[in-house]
Amino acid sequence: MPLNPDQLIRDEIRAIAAYHVPDSSGYVKLDAMENPYPLPDVLRAALSQIAHDAAINRYPDAAATALKARLRSAMDIPDGMEILLGNGSDEIIQILAMAIAKPGATILGLEPSFVMYKMIAAFAGVSYVGVPLRPNFTLDLDATLAAIAEHQPALIFIAYPNNPTGNLFDMTALLRILDAAPGLVVLDEAYHVFALESFMPLLARYPNLLVMRTLSKLGLAGLRLGFLVGSPTWLNELDKLRLPYNVNVLTQQVAEKVLAHVDILEQQAAAIRDERARLMQFLDNVAGVEAFPSAANFILLRVPNADKVFEAMKQRGILIKNLSRAHPQLQNCLRVTVGTPNENDQFLASLTTSL
Ligand SMILES: *Cc1c(COP(=O)(O)O)cnc(C)c1O
Repeated sequence: MPLNPDQLIRDEIRAIAAYHVPDSSGYVKLDAMENPYPLPDVLRAALSQIAHDAAINRYPDAAATALKARLRSAMDIPDGMEILLGNGSDEIIQILAMAIAKPGATILGLEPSFVMYKMIAAFAGVSYVGVPLRPNFTLDLDATLAAIAEHQPALIFIAYPNNPTGNLFDMTALLRILDAAPGLVVLDEAYHVFALESFMPLLARYPNLLVMRTLSKLGLAGLRLGFLVGSPTWLNELDKLRLPYNVNVLTQQVAEKVLAHVDILEQQAAAIRDERARLMQFLDNVAGVEAFPSAANFILLRVPNADKVFEAMKQRGILIKNLSRAHPQLQNCLRVTVGTPNENDQFLASLTTSL
């Protein structure tokens, strides 16, 4: 008799609940932090030409030279720093976890935060320690420094701004963490374009700092391109774990083309930031709703009965994210992605009638 999954699959993998992506067809989709705006027609025509001309019978450029050069200028990557590309930043998290997965190694995260840090730690067989944020989701520096001293993490993940809470942690506190960390500290700047704050300029000063970004929230979620920036000393080692052709031909060429016009995406992000401010102002005046300040393209809300509000809004065709059971500190919390002005109006109307 061959072995069954209970016997063959690692316990920690069987214990994980699969990452669930709901069917969103037909809904006003405000659940996944996507940019709601399409690219202008001229640029889309140029992308058609790229698909037409691309040599998809050949393997991609394994070094992605043209794309990396474009990223360097579009993203203000400091001279002397290396770039590692991933199939989304999720893949970079996986590369980092695999790289440090010695017996007894620990990954440390803050909670609640991006769930993939903990999940991927389990995939890689690395123990994970989550340090709770304060009830208002600010960083608990003393607790974090104590956890660092106790667990000596090989790797610390900090989302800046944080997902799903939306806030930027205090910069001075984060510098204390960088000073105290015995290993690598990854600042995950997935929402950089909505926050306009970055640790990128500090890379030269903190040799154990790595900055991670993605094009997903900027408007290219379907392409799957994330990147890590840091000193060649670290990135040359991490690059050995990257599968040779992890970024495909079309992603490389399309991203390179769109980033040549990054100002278009930046203007869309500016419109999203304006809408975020309008939503916040409205939400602050809705009785029963607590809206947490956000530097990202989403807003975390606490309502009296999140399950009821979530279902009622779904009935009305608005899909947001119910985080009520995602973490004890997120009880009765919902997360809404900032959409177009029209989508946001629909969201607000549906929320006020669903409370
Ligand atoms: C969305 C998100 C990512 C994942 O981005 P991909 O590049 O699409 O894999 C990473 N980190 C945080 C904090 C996110 O919210």
